[in-house]
Amino acid sequence: MQAMLLDGPRRPLREADIDRPHPAPGQLLLRVSACGVCRTDLHVADGELTDPKLPLVLGHEIVGTIVAAGDGATRFPLGTRVGVPWLGWTCGECPYCRSGRENLCDRARFTGYQIDGGYAEYAVADERFCFLVPARFGDVEAAPLLCAGLIGFRALVAAGDARSLGIYGFGAAAHIVAQVARHQGRRVYAFTRPGDAEAQRFALELGTAWAGDSGAAPPEPLEAAILFAPVGALVPEALRRVAKGGTVVCAGIHMSDIPAFPYDLLWGERVVRSVANLTRQDGEQFLHLAPDVPVRTTTIPFPLSGANEALAALREGRLRGAAVLVPDHRDG
Ligand SMILES: [Zn+2]
Ligand SMILES: [Zn+2]
Repeated sequence: MQAMLLDGPRRPLREADIDRPHPAPGQLLLRVSACGVCRTDLHVADGELTDPKLPLVLGHEIVGTIVAAGDGATRFPLGTRVGVPWLGWTCGECPYCRSGRENLCDRARFTGYQIDGGYAEYAVADERFCFLVPARFGDVEAAPLLCAGLIGFRALVAAGDARSLGIYGFGAAAHIVAQVARHQGRRVYAFTRPGDAEAQRFALELGTAWAGDSGAAPPEPLEAAILFAPVGALVPEALRRVAKGGTVVCAGIHMSDIPAFPYDLLWGERVVRSVANLTRQDGEQFLHLAPDVPVRTTTIPFPLSGANEALAALREGRLRGAAVLVPDHRDG
């Protein structure tokens, strides 16, 4: 099968012909229809996440059809369309797993990081960590739901019941979360790279109440803010904009260092927290909610062989929406 391989950090992905994987017991073999490109893929490719298997097939927003099942994998019939998220395996035994926090599992393994992912024609996945994809969504449309949507949703839950919500960094996750937040009756304020008029226009098209530069003051104090941009300097900036009791949620897996800031910014019971990974329950809840909103994903399809271009476009902030890789399946 065709796959795009990461041989090591800071190297372009290499197009390769490799053996189709075999599903181990409990695993499914999926014919990949679409795989989203996530900022986390950039952090892996750039060596900021330091523990990948190598060589590695990136990609953890996989939509595919089950074409074979390993021993004991009976959860879904063959031919079912499923989605595969970042959380690929958990131990089920550690204190986190036993307290409903499998996202923090000490031994968790992640798709497209320690397990080969979806930048390929086929992928294998543990059936227990796969989701049914709501019929309403096409394959390409659904791909960004599986990380940008899921982890964005977890960040939104972490923001509590804030009625006025700031979102810093208006990419794939933000464009989904903004729709969900609006559906819940919240007022959403979008913050982009300074001067990025196109991103601000995109945010307003999606129903945000206001869009401006990351250093600007929103029209009202925020009750919470979510940071999707991996920029540590935005933490004190967001704290400056949240009201007393407000929460700043850092939703990315990697961020540049957070500069020192005066205690005044944290005073008043403001909270800074991160959101890590996802639980299967987050996935079930979000995929149940997404068709009701209904979430409309804006996607930019690339051929599988265009993965390097997709990553470059994401790195340079050139995308309005979510890049999705679509293999062309030469076997028909
Ligand atoms: Zn565990
Ligand atoms: Zn992701």
